[in-house]
Amino acid sequence: MAREGGNERMKGILTDVTRCIGCRRCVEACIAVNKLPRIYTGRFAKGDGLSGGRLTAVAEVGQTGRTVRHQCLHCLEPSCVAACLVGALKKTPDGAVTYDAAKCIGCRYCMLACPFAIPRYEWAERAPRIRKCRMDQACRGESGAPACTEVCPTHATIFGNRADLLAEARRRIESGAGYLPRIWGERDFGGACVLYISDVDVSAVLGFPAAGELARRGVATLAEKSIPSLNRGWTLVTPIQFATVFGSLLGLWLLRRRSRLMAEGGAEAETGEDQ
Ligand code: SF4
Ligand code: SF4
Ligand code: SF4
Repeated sequence: MAREGGNERMKGILTDVTRCIGCRRCVEACIAVNKLPRIYTGRFAKGDGLSGGRLTAVAEVGQTGRTVRHQCLHCLEPSCVAACLVGALKKTPDGAVTYDAAKCIGCRYCMLACPFAIPRYEWAERAPRIRKCRMDQACRGESGAPACTEVCPTHATIFGNRADLLAEARRRIESGAGYLPRIWGERDFGGACVLYISDVDVSAVLGFPAAGELARRGVATLAEKSIPSLNRGWTLVTPIQFATVFGSLLGLWLLRRRSRLMAEGGAEAETGEDQ
C-alpha cells in the first residue's frame, strides 16, 4: 500500500521542541559518530550553530526558554541535489540526502540553492568538503537509528518512517497539549524528512519562512511546492548547459592552440628557408 509522504522505506526524524531539555547529547553523539573536531563553542549555538565541524546544533528559541536542534531537513525534492552539476549530492530511497566528496568539484552551488542555508564548507581545509547532516547508515547506531536520536534522554528527537512520524506529530498536536497547529517540514518547500512540532514558533531559528513571508515575496506556492518542481525544465538541462559551455571553451582553447602551433611552425619553416 502506498503511504503518505514517500515510499515505505522513507525514513525521517521528528523533533518535539516541548520535550527538548537542551542537554546537547544529540550534538555530542553526532560529533562522536562522525569524528568531528571537539571545539567548544558555548552551551547553545549562536545563530544556527552549524559549521564544517558541526552537522547538528542546539539553539535557544528566542526568549521562550525552549531549545531546538538544527540539522539538514533531508528535503523530499532537495534544491541542493538539483543544483549539483556533478551528482555529488543524492536523494536516496530511504530519505537521506547524501554527499560524495569524491565527485564534488567545490562549486558550492548547493550552498546557494538550499532554502534553509544548511550546507557548510570546510574553508580551512586543504581539500575542503561540503558538510551537512548525513542521516545515512554511517551515522546510525545498533538500533538502526542515527546516533543523535538514540541518545536523546527525553525522546525529543526520534527516528522512524516519515509517514509514522507525521501520524505521531498529528496525534500530539490534536491531544490538546498546547502545540501550535503546524508540522514544520510537512509541506514547506515540497516537504522534508526532518519534521518539527512545537508550542512556540521555531520558524526563524530553523530558517523556515515566517507566516505570510512567501506570499509577500510573490512565491506563495513554495509553501507547498519544492523549488526544483518550479524550475524543473532548467534543472534538467543544467548538465547539458554545463557540458555545452565546457565543450565550447575546450574547443576554443584547441583552436587557439592549433593556430599558435601553425604560426610557430610557419615561422620556423621560413627561418629554415632563409638559412
Ligand atoms: S538530546 Fe534530546 S533533549 Fe538533549 S538537546 Fe538533543 S534533542 Fe534536546
Ligand atoms: S535542507 Fe538544504 S541541504 Fe538539506 S536536503 Fe534540503 S536543500 Fe539539501
Ligand atoms: S543524522 Fe547523523 S549526521 Fe545527522 S545529526 Fe544525527 S548523527 Fe549527525
